[in-house]
Amino acid sequence: MKEKSWKEIPIGGLIDRAGSAAEYKTGDWRTFKPIVDKKKCINCLICWMYCPDSSVLVKNKEMVGFDLEHCKGCGICASVCLVKCIKMEKE
Ligand code: SF4
Ligand code: SF4
Repeated sequence: MKEKSWKEIPIGGLIDRAGSAAEYKTGDWRTFKPIVDKKKCINCLICWMYCPDSSVLVKNKEMVGFDLEHCKGCGICASVCLVKCIKMEKE
């Protein structure tokens, strides 16, 4: 396969077309990852509302975990959780 020249590859960090953000696996940037204790979770979905990367996963109105391919580990979900059932753990 022929390597692309620098003029052919997309500029890093840019979204070059609408709707393509999910293709960037930004989870690689993370140094801390969120861990949820589902026994304490009350499914208020505050974490889902605040996550800047749409990485809180919800199914049937319940918080079910995180999309770790895209979560950047900012810790906002842990900070806003009403019952403090999310903790940030070093990768
Ligand atoms: S750590 Fe940040 S990016 Fe990851 S799920 Fe929580 S709020 Fe979203
Ligand atoms: S903010 Fe906390 S309690 Fe609410 S859904 Fe998220 S993890 Fe569960």
